[in-house]
Amino acid sequence: MLMLFAFLFGSVVGSFLNVCIHRLPKEESIVFPRSRCPACQAPIRAVDNIPLLSFALLRGRCHACGQPISWQYPLVEGLTGLLFALTVARFGVTLQAAFLLAFLSGLVVISFIDLVHQIIPNAVTLPGIPLGLLAGLLVREPPLLDRLIGALAGAGFLYLVLYYGGVLYGQEAMGEGDLNLIALIGAFLGWRAVMITILVGCVVGSAVGLSLIALGRLERRQHIPFGPFLSLGAGVALFLGDRLMAWYFMLQ
Ligand SMILES: [Zn+2]
Repeated sequence: MLMLFAFLFGSVVGSFLNVCIHRLPKEESIVFPRSRCPACQAPIRAVDNIPLLSFALLRGRCHACGQPISWQYPLVEGLTGLLFALTVARFGVTLQAAFLLAFLSGLVVISFIDLVHQIIPNAVTLPGIPLGLLAGLLVREPPLLDRLIGALAGAGFLYLVLYYGGVLYGQEAMGEGDLNLIALIGAFLGWRAVMITILVGCVVGSAVGLSLIALGRLERRQHIPFGPFLSLGAGVALFLGDRLMAWYFMLQ
């Protein structure tokens, strides 16, 4: 019951995150004006603004002009709902969970903006870093020192990985946004999770990148957005980090 409520609440937040994803790169207000159909500019009716359900009822088309609505909308709503349900299942209804929900919402916005625009918005990462450190003072898990080390060492380590990775592959792989993102992840999850995040992000990112090149869907020198892979790594570290650590030390 609680998880269902968390999922529904998350999908409502996800519908707001869609607005952020759509408007932040254009530096528009995320509050005004009301949402409009990108094709015909008709305002979205309140009845068509119910997360997930409206997309299904409208069969993925605008009520006014019939143009298809992007799959990004229900995807972000469903994903955010799922993340909220997982967080509440794992961390309960606590202050720690509240900070994590804000953090995960930020990662969703960053991932989708990076996928579409190849930028990681400072408007999300830069205020997020002090918020994560503040959480360290209030909830203590992980402790503030772990978070500080995570933010600084994470950015430093990723800088080296991307720098030498870039030298190796003969391209500039580095985005300043990626470093801000890993600092954000460190500030919320601490340095252990940052190590898992970079490992998972690099392995999955390279695997997907190489597959796309092999399939001819990506040029060798083309930039692949790294933000979604780092965010995936952070999710793995948050929800599966303990199990990964236990498994790793069992192998020793
Ligand atoms: Zn329309």
